[in-house]
Amino acid sequence: MQVDLVVIGAGLAGSCLAAAVAQRGWRVVLLERQRGPRHKVCGEFLSPEAQASLHALDLHATVAALAPAEIYRAAIISRQGQRLDMALPGVAWGVSRYRLDAALAHAAAQAGATVREGITGTAITQREDGYEVEVRDTANERTSISTRTAVVACGRHAVPGLRPSQDAAAPRQMYVGIKCHYAGLQLPPEVRLYLFDGGYVGISPIEDGQANLCLLASEEAFAHVGGRVPAMLDAVAHAIPALAHDLAGGQRLDDSMTVVGAVDTERPTVLWDQCARIGDAVTMIPPLCGDGQAMAIHAAEICAPLIDDVLAGRRSLAAWQTIYTTAWHAAYDQPLRTARWLQTLLGQPQISAGLIGIGTLLPMLAQQLVLATRGPQRIIVEH
Ligand SMILES: Cc1cc2nc3c(=O)[nH]c(=O)nc-3n(C[C@H](O)[C@H](O)[C@H](O)COP(=O)(O)OP(=O)(O)OC[C@H]3O[C@@H](n4cnc5c(N)ncnc54)[C@H](O)[C@@H]3O)c2cc1C
Repeated sequence: MQVDLVVIGAGLAGSCLAAAVAQRGWRVVLLERQRGPRHKVCGEFLSPEAQASLHALDLHATVAALAPAEIYRAAIISRQGQRLDMALPGVAWGVSRYRLDAALAHAAAQAGATVREGITGTAITQREDGYEVEVRDTANERTSISTRTAVVACGRHAVPGLRPSQDAAAPRQMYVGIKCHYAGLQLPPEVRLYLFDGGYVGISPIEDGQANLCLLASEEAFAHVGGRVPAMLDAVAHAIPALAHDLAGGQRLDDSMTVVGAVDTERPTVLWDQCARIGDAVTMIPPLCGDGQAMAIHAAEICAPLIDDVLAGRRSLAAWQTIYTTAWHAAYDQPLRTARWLQTLLGQPQISAGLIGIGTLLPMLAQQLVLATRGPQRIIVEH
């Protein structure tokens, strides 16, 4: 099979890119190793910035049709119960990854992309006139796809045969991520982030009147509760009375409960390794900023017209690489540094209490700090 673009990974980044390139009439294959729809670990907070990219990719209506919850404010709450309130720079959306990822993959298929679920990309080899992408199906049958261009959008997962994006030489703090939905909670239109020893937990509304609870805990904190997800959820609710209050009367929807390990929020950035990487395949921003999904979709927005140019012969592969990597670094190097610094400081009880205290006294300063963790501010007012 000879196609124009193969995208490895049908998460947000991959599906948005596949949809945008297929819309331009190119032959696109989107590979996804799992079958959907399925729950994913995520706070499911889709920032106002993400909506600007969805607009640019002509996918805003697709996501709006999922009737996301609207979110207007954010609050960080210290271990001592001190609260720092902030207005968001626009309206954010709360929408489950169960619905969102399925809708975007469907949009890619509607645009003409061939979406192949249960197919894992196992290696990419660059040739003079394109790439050979090796794939494996669930029965372990192996084959390959010849393509003029290729993009890796496999999230945090390494694609075998490609240089791993982890820097094994530098041991770093690793985290465990847990997500669970709740029904029957009366939450205001805000995202609340509670700090606890060893991590933080967010709670916010999503579609259908449900709520998302998502936490990031150090591997040590998770081991401390015996490495069991329900025990971790109970432990944070016990440690944070205000969270227990938020959850009171709600019903935990256990079939939505998901967990991921080895979450590395300091992974070095790799934007190009034979071909472009987009989304979490590049690196990972600390989830407390709620920026990861926006970055993933924005990378698709940057790359889609460049791929169109390359396929039409208007630009070289090298020009795509230069323009993409320059734009990405300009947009995200500084937010990444600030977000990592902020996550480290908020992880320290006394410093975080001091920071929240200062932020309460000087709200403009807190707002500036939050904006410094974010990519380009292109807020969509209509919703
Ligand atoms: C605890 C936690 C909370 C978070 N909360 C938020 C939040 O509230 N807001 C926010 O904006 N961001 C949040 N994020 C970040 C956000 O989830 C990611 O930035 C986002 O999912 C990145 O999208 P992606 O498409 O790059 O990767 P993914 O969504 O991970 O998608 C990658 C896809 O590729 C597939 N795949 C992997 N390998 C292969 C292969 N070899 N072949 C074929 N398919 C493959 C996977 O199955 C997957 O479907 C959070 C992250 C964590 C860990």
